[in-house]
Amino acid sequence: MTYLVVENLVKRFGSFVAVDRVSITMAKGEVCTLLGPSGCGKTTTLRSIAGLETFDSGRVSLDGVTLADPSAGTFVPPEKRNLGMVFQSYALWPHKTVGENVSLGLKIAGLPAKEITDRVAEVLTLVGMGGTEKRSPSSLSGGQQQRVAVARALALQPKCLLFDEPLSNLDLLLRERMRFEIRELLVKLGITAVYVTHDQTEAMVISDHIVVMNQGKVEQEGAPTDIYTRPSNRFTAEFLGRTNLLPLDRARSEPATSKVAIAGGPILKSAEAARVSDSNEPLMIAFRPEMARLVRTDETGDNVMDGKVTSTSFLGSHTQVGLSLSGHEVNLLTPGHRKLANGESVRFAIDPANVLVIVDNVSGSEEP
Ligand code: ATP
Repeated sequence: MTYLVVENLVKRFGSFVAVDRVSITMAKGEVCTLLGPSGCGKTTTLRSIAGLETFDSGRVSLDGVTLADPSAGTFVPPEKRNLGMVFQSYALWPHKTVGENVSLGLKIAGLPAKEITDRVAEVLTLVGMGGTEKRSPSSLSGGQQQRVAVARALALQPKCLLFDEPLSNLDLLLRERMRFEIRELLVKLGITAVYVTHDQTEAMVISDHIVVMNQGKVEQEGAPTDIYTRPSNRFTAEFLGRTNLLPLDRARSEPATSKVAIAGGPILKSAEAARVSDSNEPLMIAFRPEMARLVRTDETGDNVMDGKVTSTSFLGSHTQVGLSLSGHEVNLLTPGHRKLANGESVRFAIDPANVLVIVDNVSGSEEP
C-alpha cells in the first residue's frame, strides 16, 4: 500500500527549474534513497517533503493525508507533519546535554516527565548510546553525535524519517560502518525513510528503493540490484559503478534473433536486443567489468571474444584488465591476482543476460 507519495513535484528558483516533475511512491516501512550528483535536486525534493521548502506545483502526501498541494492551497507546516529529520551537520545544541537534546521535542509535545526519561533512554540504547544522557555533545565523536541526532529524530516516533547526507562529515571507515548500522536500525524498527546521498555504495547498502536523479529529473528508479544490473540509460549505468560502453551498429544488429553488433566489432547475443527495434533513441551496448570472464583461448560459443591486453592493475581482491576489443577500450574485473603482459591476446565471454542495451542520454557525449 502506498504511504509517502510525491506527485509531479516542480520547484523553481527564479527561472531555474531545480526539481522537474519528480514523482516517488513509497510503501510503509520502505527505505528510499534519492541518489545523484551535486545540484541534481535531491535536497530540494527532501526539503519539499519536510515542508522546509514550498514548491510550485505537484503534491506531497503521507499516509493518505495531503501535506502540500499548491493548486489546492494546502500546506501543513513542518512541525505538524510528524516527520523526523537527520542532517549532515548533526544540528545538536552544544550547551545542552545529550539527554536534553533528545528530550527537547518530547517536552515541547508535552509528554509526562517519566515517559520522556524512559523514551530518551530507549532511543539512545537503540542507537548504541545508552547511558550518555548527561554527556555534552562536544565530548562525543562525529559518529556518536550523529547517533544522538538519529535518536532525537526517533524519539518523536515520526511517521517517516528524512536523512540529508547524514554521513558526509564522517571519515570513510566510520561512514562504512554507520551505513550498515542505519540500515539495520531502520529495518528493525520498520521505519519509512527517505535518504539523500550522492554516494552510490551508501545508497545500495541503505535502500530498498533507489531514485536516481539528474538535473532535477528522475533518470531511473528501482531496487538497488535492478538499477545496478539493469541500468536503462548511460547516466544511471555510469553513476552506479564502472561500466563498459560500446557504440551500437544498428544496421548489423538483428533484434529478432537477439543479436546486437558492436560498431566495427563482434556481434553479441543480448537479452535486451529488442530495444534496438523498439526505440528510436540513441543506444549503446554496455556491460559491467565484473560480468565478463576470462576463458581458455580454445573456448568457443556465444559472446566469446578476443582482445589484446593494454593494462593490468592488481586491486587486492581483483585484477582489473584493460583490453582493446576491435579498437574499443574495455575493462574486465577478474578475481584474485592475474598476471598478463601488455599486448597478450586473451579470450573472454559474457552471458547474454549481462549484455545491456542502454539509452545514451549523456548530452554532448561522443564515443565513450
Ligand atoms: P547537493 O548534493 O550539492 O546538496 P542536491 O542534489 O541536493 O545537491 P539541491 O540542493 O536540491 O541539490 O539544489 C538543486 C539546484 O537548485 C542546484 O542547482 C542549486 O544551486 C539550486 N538551489 C537550491 N537552493 C536554492 C536557492 N535557495 N536559491 C537558488 N537556487 C537554489
